[in-house]
Amino acid sequence: MSVSRIRTLEEYHAAYQKSVEDPDAFWADVAEPFTWRKKWDTVRSGEFSPAGESKWFDGARLNITENCLDRHLALRGNKLALIFEPNDPKTRHLRLTYRELYQQVCQFANVLHANGVEKGDRVIIYLPMIPQLAIAVLACARIGAVHSVVFAGFSATAIADRVNDADAHFVLTADGLNRGPKQIPVKSVVDEALLHCPGVRRVIVVEHLGWPVHMQPGRDVWYHEEAQGVPLTCPAEEMKAEDPLFILYTSGSTGKPKGVVHTTAGYMVWADYTFRNVFQVEENDVYWCTADIGWVTGHTYLLYGPLLAGSTSLQFEGVPTYPDAGRFWEVIDKHNVTIFYTAPTAIRSLMATPLDNVLSYSLSSLRVLGSVGEPINEEAWHWYHTHIGKGRCPVVDTWWQTETGGIMLSALADITPSVPARAGLPLPGVQPVLLNQDGTEIEGNDQEGYLAIKASWPAVIRTTWGDHERARQTYFQPYPGYYFTGDGARRDEQGLYRIIGRVDDVINVSGHRFGTAEIENAINQNEHVVESAVVGYPHDVKGQGIYAYVICQGGPPKDAAEARKWESSIIETVVAEIGKIAKPDKIQLVSGLPKTRSGKIMRRILRKVAEGETSNLGDVTTLLDPAVVDEILTGRK
Ligand code: ATP
Ligand code: MG
Repeated sequence: MSVSRIRTLEEYHAAYQKSVEDPDAFWADVAEPFTWRKKWDTVRSGEFSPAGESKWFDGARLNITENCLDRHLALRGNKLALIFEPNDPKTRHLRLTYRELYQQVCQFANVLHANGVEKGDRVIIYLPMIPQLAIAVLACARIGAVHSVVFAGFSATAIADRVNDADAHFVLTADGLNRGPKQIPVKSVVDEALLHCPGVRRVIVVEHLGWPVHMQPGRDVWYHEEAQGVPLTCPAEEMKAEDPLFILYTSGSTGKPKGVVHTTAGYMVWADYTFRNVFQVEENDVYWCTADIGWVTGHTYLLYGPLLAGSTSLQFEGVPTYPDAGRFWEVIDKHNVTIFYTAPTAIRSLMATPLDNVLSYSLSSLRVLGSVGEPINEEAWHWYHTHIGKGRCPVVDTWWQTETGGIMLSALADITPSVPARAGLPLPGVQPVLLNQDGTEIEGNDQEGYLAIKASWPAVIRTTWGDHERARQTYFQPYPGYYFTGDGARRDEQGLYRIIGRVDDVINVSGHRFGTAEIENAINQNEHVVESAVVGYPHDVKGQGIYAYVICQGGPPKDAAEARKWESSIIETVVAEIGKIAKPDKIQLVSGLPKTRSGKIMRRILRKVAEGETSNLGDVTTLLDPAVVDEILTGRK
């Protein structure tokens, strides 16, 4: 048995037990096969309490790109590392072997150096989902610069906030981007942002659409001009295990985004270990994670995890509905994708389109399906399993956070149980607990509480950039000795974990506590419903009432009578699924929900609307479509 790879249920239990009983020996074994310039002095040190001071593999020296690239050249030099599928299916796709990717990364790294980027400098990357995004991230890591990727759909304000928070002097961007049928300028958004960022010294612009852009003399340069004649090799900077690898800002679902910091060695080991085990990756897999590299999922499971494992990873520039709602399935057939990892929001939106979009494709290459980002409701789980996986592919519902660096709770494909609406069992190294409000551990199964993690794991958040106190207060102080996730969970009869929503979103109706995910899951069982979001609001009698925002199939109802009919049908469904006590007090039929750019519902906005507190909606810089909020305000019940 290889310690790095679990192949049976017995091996899972054995690995789990060892990871708890002797974590130092367990992780030393897992870390052994990587390329280290120098091995660690201690595997694990530091405590969660009082300040979250974890260190992993302290004393070790390494460079993560030597592990992603150089180490594979001998055996996998000609194997595909990245397949790039462009926005427009008529444009030719691009493939890069490990050797080609290595060369491109080295060249990019040399360009960064020549432009003054040094070890420890923060580099903001505001690039669309083009190969240069993956290359730029790795190029930063090659020379020890700290990358901070900002999703290329964010506003100038969001960029400026991040540039200033990270105190970055360098920005990488492009002339423009493709999103479905639209072409969007990107450089001009950066220009607007940088009016508020006096510290930025250099902007390197990648040519993608061939659009003319404003170049500020002395500050802005074209990548293709800088790369002329630049060598394709670049020595990797030797990094300490705990040197920061990247800063990534959270989605902002619950408040102002936090600049989560991950360091080098622990993150590397965790990304590789979780990737290979959760998806049960084999040498010939073609793996596709649909997340943008601007999210943590794209960092760990599009880029670092697959490359560390020597896999072939597909990067997609476009959107699921362009040129039509069959695009995902077309791409799977075209590249013979074997492992597919996406988000419930994408599944639900595709589910709402005619099934013909799926039936025209064979999908016979698929072997494993994954979901991430939010709880996947049962309806969506079954649709995904039946129509995409043809009942043949296990679905792994992976729970984790930007702060956890990688997957924490999930089935291991075809090895540990995969049950709809359950994330499942913890990965080796993860010790989840359920806590009472007062911080005592809740024992036994069939129980519910605040989800916390009892012991450090290699990729635990190290700090929030420039503000360690914030990290301490958010994650380590609420329940001393634990990492606090902010999510509520249930441990079912079999010991499988089910995420029931954010702790802040728990609704207390006449003394009964409900997670938002539970009630939404029930509402979504109704035949008319595509998606829903529920929040609590103050209620004179019950303490809190349930306010449900619901999107129905085919858009809004045609008249008031139809609206009433749908509403009572939704109430019936909830009563049948959970009981009278969970019956929504108010239902507002809407055509969209306020979401972050990564597809998560911003319940805090919905809560404010339900509470009637509509004047200050809080930080909305990560909101996808502000028009949705206006509609919701107008239709408020
Ligand atoms: P912020 O912390 O700024 O509010 P965020 O929590 O939305 O933003 P992320 O780190 O992108 O930022 O999201 C992590 C959260 O996503 C988890 O805490 C959880 O609520 C939710 N989540 C992710 N995967 C799953 C899953 N498989 N099942 C249920 N919930 C999930
Ligand atoms: Mg969060």
